[in-house]
Formats: sequence, C-alpha cells, structure tokens
Amino acid sequence: MEKIVDINDSPFPQSPVEATQYDGSKVIQFSCHKGISCFNACCKNIDITLTPYDILRLKRRLDVTSGEFLREYTEPYEMEKEGIAGVKFKPIDNGTACRFMRDEGCSVYEDRPTACRYYPVALISMRRQDEYTDTNSYALIKEAHCKGHFEDRSLTIDEYRKEQGLDEYDTLARGWRQLVLKKKSSGPTVGKPSKRSLLLFFMACYDLDRFREFVISAPFNDTYDISDETRNKILNDETELMLFAFDFQRQVMFGEESVPMKADALEKHMARKRELAEAQTAADENGENIQSE
Ligand code: SF4
Ligand code: SF4
Repeated sequence: MEKIVDINDSPFPQSPVEATQYDGSKVIQFSCHKGISCFNACCKNIDITLTPYDILRLKRRLDVTSGEFLREYTEPYEMEKEGIAGVKFKPIDNGTACRFMRDEGCSVYEDRPTACRYYPVALISMRRQDEYTDTNSYALIKEAHCKGHFEDRSLTIDEYRKEQGLDEYDTLARGWRQLVLKKKSSGPTVGKPSKRSLLLFFMACYDLDRFREFVISAPFNDTYDISDETRNKILNDETELMLFAFDFQRQVMFGEESVPMKADALEKHMARKRELAEAQTAADENGENIQSE
C-alpha cells in the first residue's frame, strides 16, 4: 500500500509530527482554552492548507464571493511538481500570523478551517494506487510552545474529532481529498495535466462562484446532460454544487463517466480519449509524457 500523508497533516511550520500512527481510539491528553499561557501562540506562525469546504464556510462567514476570498485571504501553492494546486491562508502583511487572530482568540472560530480544528492531531490518509478507497490514521504534533499537552484532560482522538466538528468537515472534503490522493499516487501514469485541466481543478474546487457561472454557461450545457433536479439542487445549494464539482473533476482528471454527457459530445469525447490513449502508448514507448485533458 502506498502511503500518502494527507495535505492537512501539518498545519503549522516545522510541526514535529510524531512518527507513531494511531487509530481514533488513541487516548490523548490535551486541552486548549482561553487563559492558557500559550493562548494564540499557534496562530502567530501559520502554514494552513484549506479544503474546498473550509473556503465555502469562510466565504459565507465573511459574506464575500469565492473570488474575493481567494484574492484577499489566500495564496495558491503547488501540491506536487507540475501538478494540481492547493490553497493556503495568506498571513498578515510582513508577518507570519493569521489574519483572523485577535487578542481574544480566533475571530472566525465557528468556521475555522480543518487544519485548525485538527491541531494537535495530524490526519494521515492512505490509499491504494488508482483506487478511491482511502483509510485514515492519526499522529500527534508536539510543539514546545503548545502547553495544551500538559492540561489535565484525557479523551480519545475520535472524541476530540467529534468535539471539533470534524466529521462534517472531513465528510464534505472527502471527494476533493480523494482526487488529490489519486492524482498524487497515479502521477505520470495519467499524463501531465494540461493548463486547462489545472485551471478547471482550481475553479471547481476553490472558486465555487465562478464554477456556478461555468455550470450555467452554454459550453457546459452543450456538453453535459444533467437533469433538472440535479441542476436545481446544485444551483440552489452551494454545498451540493461543491460535491458536484468533485464528481465533475473525476471526469476531467481521470476520464470517469461521473457526469452524463450529451450524445454528440460523448462521441467526440470518446474519440478524443482514444486519441490520447494512442498518443500515451506511443509516448510510453518513447519514454515521454503527454498532457492529459
Ligand atoms: S483561523 Fe483562527 S484558529 Fe486558525 S490560525 Fe487563524 S486565528 Fe488561529
Ligand atoms: S494550547 Fe496549543 S493549540 Fe491551544 S493556544 Fe496554546 S499553542 Fe495553540
């Protein structure tokens, strides 16, 4: 089994993630609360990757579009060489602290990202190559500045995840996480992604308001055959739109037939897939890589 550390595993720089992996029944000793001597220390030096659901929650909270949120509060980064993009919090200007940190604590606490909720636990996702089935385990992050490990409170990681609302966050980000894990583990076997494919991934996963515009555009509707029921659902519920975006990306990135296509578009798509497969076979024989759709 190929081991891939999930991109949310280390929310803070140089986090000493302990090597031992645990399941959710592991009992940890930890408490974080106002009044602890290190309060806010972890938010002063951030390196926080955001999931699509994190972005959705925060853009709603701040009442801005996804584009405005991405521009103002985030910066993109490359999750793998020449591969798909991730999004991180942009720290304060000329500093390393989180823009949402206040003296009294986190100003977006109810909508804080997955990485902030997990800390000091690290999520480790693993999957078999070319499969979507993933399994999770956990590790502990112990940093000298974090005094929460010395507080007199014990609970299991499962209990801690529940307390932090992580079931909802993990469930709703799972489709995206599986895309990332599959792309990382399949690597060049699915070809180097084209610029169009990378832009589509970014839009679908992170810039949901722009993805909605795409879904109502003529090119999308000339190509894809989605029912009125699905259309109403995804255009009236941002969470459903996000989940649809993950399905759509499975088609774009891995050629899965996860979103129905119109008959003529499907014919063209199949012909293009055949061409790409032939080109990839030829490229493999020559030791080259080609761009996938
Ligand atoms: S979002 Fe809140 S908890 Fe997370 S780093 Fe920023 S201030 Fe800290
Ligand atoms: S106990 Fe740890 S997580 Fe809580 S404020 Fe202190 S450094 Fe941050």
